[in-house]
Amino acid sequence: MGTSLGRFKFLVSSFMFRIASGNLKPETCNQEPKATHDALRGARSSVMTEKGTIVYGVDPLIIRDHYEIDYHHSYAQDSPFFVGLTKGQLLGSRCTACGYTYATPRAHCMGCGAATSWFALPLTGRVHTFTTCHYGGEVFLKETPFTLILVEFNGADTLFLSRLKGLRPDAVRIGLPVVARFAKAPAFKVTDVWFEPADQE
Ligand SMILES: [Zn+2]
Repeated sequence: MGTSLGRFKFLVSSFMFRIASGNLKPETCNQEPKATHDALRGARSSVMTEKGTIVYGVDPLIIRDHYEIDYHHSYAQDSPFFVGLTKGQLLGSRCTACGYTYATPRAHCMGCGAATSWFALPLTGRVHTFTTCHYGGEVFLKETPFTLILVEFNGADTLFLSRLKGLRPDAVRIGLPVVARFAKAPAFKVTDVWFEPADQE
């Protein structure tokens, strides 16, 4: 422990010496020694080592480390639902034992535990309830305020959460007829489907 700490202190002091002696160049075009020193103190500044490591500061030591990964995501038993969206289909699931119908992908019944089978939901429904979102995740932030609705369908026992587009948030009402719309360029995400007022047909 003591040895590694001493080694670390040596590395830091060596590093600081090289900064002071001008061996580290700031990323910015200003390469004067004082600017280099100030760059290390500034929260938004950085310097680059001779080997190209970007250093944001030494207490604590913070460097830039590139990280990238490809993730093979399996939709498993939900796959038919997302493939259906690319064909303009909304697929629900029906319990093969008790007949309960879900307006969402569900491999097994919540009530009795039996396996379900897929069925096509109607593409029109009604607003069961809604909420206006004035804040959202980074992807949706620029679209605020937007409306989320729970859609009820004839022939389905549960609801479907989706976006309502094409209507001002203060004009949304419970019971409003809505129609499903599908992305022309699907991303295999649940945002590939949304709803619009059906009376705009
Ligand atoms: Zn069941």
